Amino acid sequence: MDTSHVKPPEEESSTTAEKCLTLVSRNQWGALVPLCKETLQYPAELAIIHHTALWSCHGSQDHLTQLRHIQKLHMQDRGFDDIGYNFLIGRDGTVYEGRGWGVVGAHAKGHNHNSVGIAFMGNFNDEAPSSAALSSTQQLLLSGVVLGQLHHNYTLLGHRDVGDTECPGNMLYKELQHLSHH
Ligand SMILES: [Zn+2]
Repeated sequence: MDTSHVKPPEEESSTTAEKCLTLVSRNQWGALVPLCKETLQYPAELAIIHHTALWSCHGSQDHLTQLRHIQKLHMQDRGFDDIGYNFLIGRDGTVYEGRGWGVVGAHAKGHNHNSVGIAFMGNFNDEAPSSAALSSTQQLLLSGVVLGQLHHNYTLLGHRDVGDTECPGNMLYKELQHLSHH
């Protein structure tokens, strides 16, 4: 995956933090190796937003705990090849690499082969997403278009738009209109 346009966390500095995505790679969060990996054939036409519906994290250690928990849950309990989402977004705006760009996810049945799945970490039925998380997501979507991994005319959806689920929670769902590039 091409990460030349994003700054890894160790290069993060307070003066540039606003303009650059903080992307934490799989290695950095201690991801298990995927059992199998399927390449997305075309740039994703849909960006599908989820919430993890788990606890709200306080601090990066808490994020790492939740990431490993989700990967285990997806691989052991649900029988997925890897963590289901392509990316996960922490409350502080940190972007965690799930399957990453260009890889078929397991997050929205029937739509995994033409979408990228992005999950906000936490439960947004009653809690509002942070502005840091929303702005990171906006930047991530933009970088996907620049990298050619997301169709320039992509459609942004909540998981509930394509499946029988409350996901990504009412409070996050109503913010999605502000994330749209249209
Ligand atoms: Zn979902």
